[in-house]
Formats: sequence, structure tokens, C-alpha cells
Amino acid sequence: MSYDNDNIFAKILRNEIPCERVYEDEHTLVFMDIMPRADGHVLVIPKTPARNVLDATPQQLASCMATVQKLSHALMKAFGAGGITIQQFNEVAGGQEVFHLHFHVLPRQAGVKLRPPGNMEKPEVLKQHADRIRTALPTLT
Ligand code: 5GP
Repeated sequence: MSYDNDNIFAKILRNEIPCERVYEDEHTLVFMDIMPRADGHVLVIPKTPARNVLDATPQQLASCMATVQKLSHALMKAFGAGGITIQQFNEVAGGQEVFHLHFHVLPRQAGVKLRPPGNMEKPEVLKQHADRIRTALPTLT
């Protein structure tokens, strides 16, 4: 399967559609999932094309994992989380819906289940959560 330049995350990277960005560096971008399964649910993507882990380079995976770790610390702090869940899906059979490599990073509280998928969050709520993450990031030690 080949990479589709018109997938939704490629359009986000090109600023063709809006998103609530919380962090970026040379190799990765992080933004709020539009249908969060927990408050603070973010997506970490490489800035260069990769469909999923099956075609990604080791460098793309390494960059993403470094950012996943950075955001995990920020989410623990921003949401007073007790833990972090990381999800990653590959191809239709693996549960993937958007075909640009991405890692879901979700702050968790003990005993609180993930919300069902497919529920759009209000933009103002996503912005509030993004603000909390952006505030937590520079203060990480
Ligand atoms: P997956 O491919 O891992 O199954 O899921 C793709 C994820 O992307 C879903 O959690 C979905 O809510 C999220 N998503 C789909 N379209 C958009 C969009 O336009 N903007 C943002 N921020 N997230 C999206």
C-alpha cells in the first residue's frame, strides 16, 4: 500500500485544514484528536510521509517515540493523570482509519474507562485542553 498525499493528516501538516497544535519540533507534530477518547487525547505524527509502522523508517519511529515520551510527561502533569495509554493502529485490519503514521497518547485515571470512539469534541474544549498541555510542556524537568 502506498502513501496518499491527500490523507487528512497530510492536509493538517500543509495547514490546509485546521487543528489544535500543542507541540512541534524538526521531525514531529502533536495535535489534539478531534474525537478524544479521554480529555487530553493527542496524536503524534512524523512531519515526513509514512503510512504506518510497516513502511516507516527507524528514524521516523525514533523521532515519534521521543515525542510520545515528552507528551506523556506533559499529559501526566497537565491532567494530574495516574497513567498513560499509547495506541497505534496499522492498516484497515489493524484498526487504522487515517493513513499517515500516528501514535495516540491518552492520559488515564485509575478506574476511568476510555470513551467510545467517534464523538466529536467542541473546539473550545479542545483549546482548553491544548492550553493545559502547552503550559505543562515548558515546565517539564
Ligand atoms: P486511527 O487511524 O488510529 O484509527 O484513528 C485516527 C484518529 O484520527 C481518530 O482518533 C480520529 O478521531 C482522529 N481524526 C480523524 N480526523 C481528524 C481530523 O480531521 N482532525 C483531528 N485532529 N483528528 C482527526
